[in-house]
This record gives sequence, structure tokens and C-alpha cells, in this order.
Amino acid sequence: MIYLDNSATTRLDPEVLEAMLPFLQEEYGNPSSKHYTLAQNSKKATDEARFHVSQLMGCKPDEVIFTSGSTESNNMILKGIMDFYSDQGSHLVVSKSEHSSILETAKFLEKKGHEVTYLNVDKYGRVQIEELETLVKVPQKPLLVSIIWGNNETGSINDIRYIAELCMKNNIFLHTDATQVLGKIDVRDSIEGVRFFSCSAHKLHGPKGIGASIIKKDELGIKTQITPLLHGGGQEFDYRSGTISTHNIVGFGKAAEIALREIEQTQKKLKQLESYLISKLRERFHEIMHLNSDTKNKIPGIVNVRFNDVDNEFLIQELGSKVALSTGSACSSSKPSHVLLSMGLSLEQVRSSVRISLSKYNTLNEIDELCKMLAGE
Ligand code: PMP
Repeated sequence: MIYLDNSATTRLDPEVLEAMLPFLQEEYGNPSSKHYTLAQNSKKATDEARFHVSQLMGCKPDEVIFTSGSTESNNMILKGIMDFYSDQGSHLVVSKSEHSSILETAKFLEKKGHEVTYLNVDKYGRVQIEELETLVKVPQKPLLVSIIWGNNETGSINDIRYIAELCMKNNIFLHTDATQVLGKIDVRDSIEGVRFFSCSAHKLHGPKGIGASIIKKDELGIKTQITPLLHGGGQEFDYRSGTISTHNIVGFGKAAEIALREIEQTQKKLKQLESYLISKLRERFHEIMHLNSDTKNKIPGIVNVRFNDVDNEFLIQELGSKVALSTGSACSSSKPSHVLLSMGLSLEQVRSSVRISLSKYNTLNEIDELCKMLAGE
């Protein structure tokens, strides 16, 4: 099987598995328990993991709040801010090309009485900055802006650094869904002014069911408060209750450590694979193939293409025993992609679009194989 659906999830790195195993076997202590070795070992391991995640993100360890993944983090941050600061405003801004865990949360909040603006995007799925520039200055200015950093369907990157400056100047909270960029672009230099992030370990060769909300402190070093999504024993600095998932956190920490250690070589490899893929597709299918993704300013390794008169579901099913491809987000796979529609593609074009997403484990040979299969050879 040639696995080319790495935006949906990734293969577990063997080093990650090895790090996790003791915490599924003999090291089963609850890290929140006290005074005995088994608990202390788990606490030490989760502290170390928190440190590695914070290094990858460029934040402090106590700004990392472990969750079950980006869906939970996105829900937690949007609902938590809109509730906690309701006396300061009620206006939320998101873009039309967000992941469904943002869009559905925004719709929920809208039903609860909040005002929500859905920003238009350009032909590659990037936010139209001028619209945001106007919005931040209106009297009913937003309380929170939530913009995806890199798109999961096209790979397009939004200018988070500029958006952060804009929000900071206007005293508006900014959240970014960083799920797809982690480990593929270095986010550490651009996070000034971004108070909230979401991420999931399984997109960077870590385990599923674990991720984080990054909640940064304010300029004075004071903890940023939000209403928790899960109330209970006060784990995760009172932000998210529930016994923490030690083995998964250890796996996430190891994945983050590897991602940071290998970031330059991963980027280089993904860029090389991507340009080879595009050139091979152009060579073979030039008159019937169109790129939906931009070729610059994007996450390396995510390519969205369409083939004239091809039914994407049919194509993916036909090749399904040999290659893993997708029509778009695995989280809304039954519907035509709202991301591609928001970019102005027709329904027919959306239905002939395929996402090919690569990882450090893919090879040039696999791309040759894919091209042969697409050509029916
Ligand atoms: N945001 C983005 C951009 C994603 O790609 C995904 C996963 N497809 C999510 C959020 C949700 O992540 P998870 O399923 O791990 O909760």
C-alpha cells in the first residue's frame, strides 16, 4: 500500500512507539497521584513530553494544555473565550476555509446568539486580508479571530505573522489552528501575538487521540483565563480536567522532539517529493490535470489536483487497495469539500479533485507508481 493521505493521519514513528510502550505496560501510575515512584515516573515523563511540545511550538511548558486533539482544542478555545469574555464582546471571526471543527463550533456559537463573520478566501483558500483589516476597526470589533495557519486540503499558508500584528494592535484575541503546519514549517518565529493554538500529535507521526491547546500568558506573564470545556479535578492547570493520557502524551512528546530535530530535512524531502509529483503529473496528464493548490507559500507535501471528467470518489475507490488518496478532509468526507467550494471551484470541479499528501516516509518511486496507476497502467 502506498500511503499518500498524510493530512488525514500519519504512520507512527517507531521511535515514538518505543517511547510509549513502557507507559502501556509497567509504568501505569497516574501522574496526578503523589509521593510514590510509579506516579512520579509518569509525572516526570509527561513533564518531559510537555517540554518537547513547548520547544516545537516556541512557548513555555506551562502554556501547553494536553487535550484529545485539535477538534477538542478548537472547541475548547472558541467556546471557552466566547463564554469567559462575553462581557467584553460577542463577535467571532473565522474564515470560510477552516476545518469543520472550527466551522461547526462557530455555527453552534452563532445559534447561541454570538455574531459570527465568515471571511472570504482567495482562489487558493487564503484569507482575504483586506476584509479582516476593515473588520478589526469597526466599533463592534471582534473579540476573537480564528484563522487556520495552513490549510489541510490545499496546503495554503495564511500570513499568521501579519494577522497576529493586526490583532495585537487592535487588542483582539487570535487563535490559529496549527494542526497541519507543525513539523512541516517552523512556527517558533511567528507566534508573537498569537495567544491560542490547536494541534494534534497524529499529524506528525505521533499517536491518535492526543493533541494540545497552547494558551499563552499575557504580556505581564499572567495566565490567560478561559471557561473550561471539561470541568472536574483541575488537571492541566485547571484548563482541562480528566486523568491525563500518559502513554499518548509521551508519544506526542517524542513525536515533537523528532519533528523539531528533523524539521529541515523533512521540509527538504517534502519539497523535493512535491515538485517531483507535480512535474510527473504535468508530464503525463498535462491537458486534463489542473492544480488547485498554489505552488508557493504553502505547506510542503500537500497537493490538491483535479482531473477533467474524473469522479474522485470512484477513482479513490478503484485504487483503494493499492494507494491511499483522499477527496479532502477525512472529517467531512461525505460532503463535497467546503474548502474547494469557498475557493470558487464549481461542484463539478470539486467532485473531480483529489488530495495527495506526502510524508517523510514516501519515496520518488512511490510517486512513479502512483502516476502509473492514475494512467491505468
Ligand atoms: N484541524 C485541522 C486543520 C485538521 O486537519 C484536523 C484533522 N483532519 C483537525 C483540525 C482535527 O484534528 P483531530 O481529528 O485530531 O481532532
